[in-house]
Amino acid sequence: MAWKKQRDELLSTVLEMDRLGLVSGTSGNASVRLEKAADPNAFLITPAALPYPTMTPGQLVPVNGAMEPLEGDGVPSSESLLHLAIYRARADVRAVMHTHSVYASALAVAGRPLPPIVDELVVYVGGQVEVAEYGFPGTEALARAGVEALGDRRAVLLRHHGMFAVADTAKEALRVCALVERVAHIFICAEAIGGAREVPAASFEAERRMYLERAGLT
Ligand SMILES: [Zn+2]
Repeated sequence: MAWKKQRDELLSTVLEMDRLGLVSGTSGNASVRLEKAADPNAFLITPAALPYPTMTPGQLVPVNGAMEPLEGDGVPSSESLLHLAIYRARADVRAVMHTHSVYASALAVAGRPLPPIVDELVVYVGGQVEVAEYGFPGTEALARAGVEALGDRRAVLLRHHGMFAVADTAKEALRVCALVERVAHIFICAEAIGGAREVPAASFEAERRMYLERAGLT
């Protein structure tokens, strides 16, 4: 079985995603860009409709940039097109995670972006988390809308659906998912007690520069 190390790392991270309650049942998915693959956009992704607690490293599906399986006969996640679109658009991204966490999904349902209300959100995610135009799950249209709304940041909300996070590693993508969920919760609480306020403009600019420098996007 090829890519053993990447399979083990991705599996342990999705198990943690499941334990944290960021998805329910077999929903959500995650992938990593494959190392030592002929195709630079090849990636390893969780399989469609299999429960996380009993998932094995061999059930993760390696696919190339044409979405053809590179090994085994597993069925890749139904949201693979959006993962592929992100790897094509963002050379800096090596891992993608998609969750249906409650507060981030509440914002996505309301069509409300998550503004930069917490310093940490700007430093680690790059600024306001935008809401992508609605697209039917699993389609090219959703993949295009998701990539456009993601921009150069590390998270995006999918209307009537959930969120996507991108990072250097699967563990870091999980950290972004958990952070966005926490800040979405804080935002909704703050709105209920008089209104959330954004971080001061000068701080936003400094934090945004820190984000771009760390991500190598300057
Ligand atoms: Zn989903």
